[in-house]
Amino acid sequence: MPRGKPSKGKCAYCSAEIAKNGVSKHLLTCSERQAIIQQAERKKGAGETLYHLRVQDTAHGEFWLDLEMRGSKTLKDLDSYLRRIWLECCGHLSQFSVGGWQGEKIPMSRKADDVFMYDNELTHIYDFGTESVTRIKVVDSRVGKPTTTRPLALMARNLMPESECIECKQPAAWLCMECLIEENVGGTLCDKHAKKHPHENYGEPIPLVNSPRLGMCGYEGPAEPPY
Ligand SMILES: [Zn+2]
Ligand SMILES: [Zn+2]
Ligand SMILES: [Zn+2]
Ligand SMILES: [Zn+2]
Repeated sequence: MPRGKPSKGKCAYCSAEIAKNGVSKHLLTCSERQAIIQQAERKKGAGETLYHLRVQDTAHGEFWLDLEMRGSKTLKDLDSYLRRIWLECCGHLSQFSVGGWQGEKIPMSRKADDVFMYDNELTHIYDFGTESVTRIKVVDSRVGKPTTTRPLALMARNLMPESECIECKQPAAWLCMECLIEENVGGTLCDKHAKKHPHENYGEPIPLVNSPRLGMCGYEGPAEPPY
């Protein structure tokens, strides 16, 4: 469902709305983030390399996350995060690779430090049947104390992409799977037209959620960050 408008997101620290291509600049100057970094630096314990990752769907790039990942944490941690915020429908296999889709597979046990020392771009595939493909790129790194005890911190995320009702062009909040699969039309519907919609082979229309996997293999969300 490409919509052609420049994608916007939200800073997780100060809630400012930012353009997709302005995130890095914003994060470097965001005073709320700087305060959290300074607070972390006053804590005991060792610093480590922290990687700023831009994660996005490869289909339209309208779903994206800016994460800060601790160098000591593993790809498994990143995989778990992606599953929980975006992908998990029924426990499919997933993998990371370098050099794109057909590239070399990287074990899940590998630490971020050991991966990003050599490569600054990874491909993540979830589900080898109805695949969701995600690109992960290192856009920056710093050495410091992590701002969280978790493996990753969510720094920014795209706002829910806007879509129109196929009946009336008003903002849509629902998706009809039958339209999508059998009629090959968008299938996005407003509240009113979702109620009156005649299709039921795939059940009632499902709510639109902020994930590139919506509607794939019956994915219905919730697409909420795990932390
Ligand atoms: Zn901010
Ligand atoms: Zn599934
Ligand atoms: Zn409508
Ligand atoms: Zn329909």
